[in-house]
Amino acid sequence: MFDLKGRVAIVTGGNGGIGLGMAKGLARAGARVVVAARNREKSSAAVRELKALGADALALTVDVTDERSVEALVADAAQQCGRIDILVNNAGINIRKPAHELPVAQWQQVIDTNLTSAFVCSRAVYPHLKRAGGGKIINIGSMLSIFGASFAPAYGASKGGVVQLTKSLAVGWAADNIQVNAVLPGWVDTDLTRQARQQLPGLNERVLARSPSGRWGTIDDFEGIAVFLASPASAFITGTAIAVDGGYSTQV
Ligand code: NAP
Repeated sequence: MFDLKGRVAIVTGGNGGIGLGMAKGLARAGARVVVAARNREKSSAAVRELKALGADALALTVDVTDERSVEALVADAAQQCGRIDILVNNAGINIRKPAHELPVAQWQQVIDTNLTSAFVCSRAVYPHLKRAGGGKIINIGSMLSIFGASFAPAYGASKGGVVQLTKSLAVGWAADNIQVNAVLPGWVDTDLTRQARQQLPGLNERVLARSPSGRWGTIDDFEGIAVFLASPASAFITGTAIAVDGGYSTQV
């Protein structure tokens, strides 16, 4: 039920953080993983890590904000791997400023990286998933898909949009046996949040005080949900947004 042998997965931003955690889960379940990001050194290191798990993995360079770059990535992946079954839309950034200080160019950069990319990547893989008889798309939202934060207007808008995009794609492609779901991570220890902890004094204490689990998430916490949403185990689950947050969104 959780076996991904013979499946090919593209993970955008798979060279570090949550993307690498998901890539490791998919690799352990037998999938061949395409690590798709900009930083070649980080991607090569991630591929070495995945291969050490016994998986087949390769790195392809992409800028998800560039439509042509995404189309080239998908064409290359299909050519080198022969098929595409799974897409994880994980690449993301944040620019932390209050709305009254956020230039439109930075708003746009966040929306392009976090939301438009998920649409462009999903659209590019669609014919390949259809040809394979079905497939899986996993979009990465956030606690800011649900809650507001004064320091993240563009990020929050992008992550709210990811949930609604997930529903539209799920409904539109269900007849093609393509399941599309979102994962909403809580606070997870990665480069992104290490930066946030520096920029937002008191964040660490606030997160720990509110989290029933009493800890930050680790990238390993995302292996299981990736395998579940990428495998036949979730065949009748589509259009949902699943919080992986140690209970953060459950507690007032
Ligand atoms: P991270 O370690 O900074 O990873 C971000 C990844 O995105 C990197 O691999 C980066 O690779 C890639 N990326 C960024 N811009 C890109 C672009 N234009 N083209 C291609 N790849 C790009 O952060 P993370 O925390 O793991 O974040 C991963 C996802 O989880 C994001 O969508 C984030 O919003 C979401 N998330 C994180 C948390 C958390 O607590 N950490 C919570 C909720 C949601 P390159 O720089 O090599 O391109």
